Amino acid sequence: ATPMSIMTATGRGAQAGVLIKDAEALERFAKVDTLIVDKTGTLTEGRPKLTDIVAAEGFDEGELLAMAASLERGSEHPLAEAIVEGVQARGTAMADAEDFEAVTGKGVQGKVSGRSVALGNAAMMDDLGVATESMKPRADALRSNGKTAMFVSVDGKLAGMVAVADPIKATTEAAIRALQESGLTIIMATGDNERTAKAVAARLGIDEVRAEMLPESKKALIDELHAKGASVAMAGDGVNDAPALAAADVGIAMGTGADVAVESAGITLVKGDLNGIVRARTLARATIRNIK
Ligand code: ADP
Ligand code: MG
Repeated sequence: ATPMSIMTATGRGAQAGVLIKDAEALERFAKVDTLIVDKTGTLTEGRPKLTDIVAAEGFDEGELLAMAASLERGSEHPLAEAIVEGVQARGTAMADAEDFEAVTGKGVQGKVSGRSVALGNAAMMDDLGVATESMKPRADALRSNGKTAMFVSVDGKLAGMVAVADPIKATTEAAIRALQESGLTIIMATGDNERTAKAVAARLGIDEVRAEMLPESKKALIDELHAKGASVAMAGDGVNDAPALAAADVGIAMGTGADVAVESAGITLVKGDLNGIVRARTLARATIRNIK
């Protein structure tokens, strides 16, 4: 690679909000054949909104919401913000939570008004020995709509569900198509439920989905692809994406996300939309072509 052509490419990228760390990142990105994309905050806005509340028998919706939000005030997860904001908008009062604990990739738990409350996915409820079968059909219906459904338990019993919707960014669909046309195999990787993930992937024409992943499993997926001889880029925004961004041949951070994601990346998209990846791909390939 001539230093001149690389400087031109990185300069053009920077003008368009695509920050390329160095010559190697650019060269490697031209050769990448597989792109892993995180769902929440990368394909979607990452600003979910509370949409549904389903109370189990013996609980009322207001009570359920108040307990859920009281707990989520202690969490910085986008899902937590959605629940707290939704409850504030409804004017429901919240209590203080004690013994708060966040379980990565699963949910949160603690004590609210002397009761043990937990909120999270099916894995979280399994860990606590709370049966969720009775609400599974309802949860699946929400998920098939692309919503994220979370279970709430109180004193070891299922108390209900809350669901949020996270809209797909306006630029995502066309960018995914352009990237597929440039020869990239696209894989969605998410900590979210499989049904929810597949509903979103179907809307975007993404065939391959890895759901219910813990942060370590995103890195393991990259190792698995490397073992098959693939050259892999990974785009993500969260703290939980940082190990995978560092393990990929090229890590792509959404500049709107966590600082640690940016630090682990070879390419940073200032505006945080996927058009930045399309631009980076075009620049990288044009630069490599000039060198040959
Ligand atoms: P993502 O890949 O979507 O960023 P995470 O690994 O952060 O996923 O979370 C995976 C799943 O764990 C979420 O979809 C949700 O069901 C559950 N979860 C994690 N944190 C919370 C929380 N604070 N409140 C409720 N559910 C949570
Ligand atoms: Mg995320």
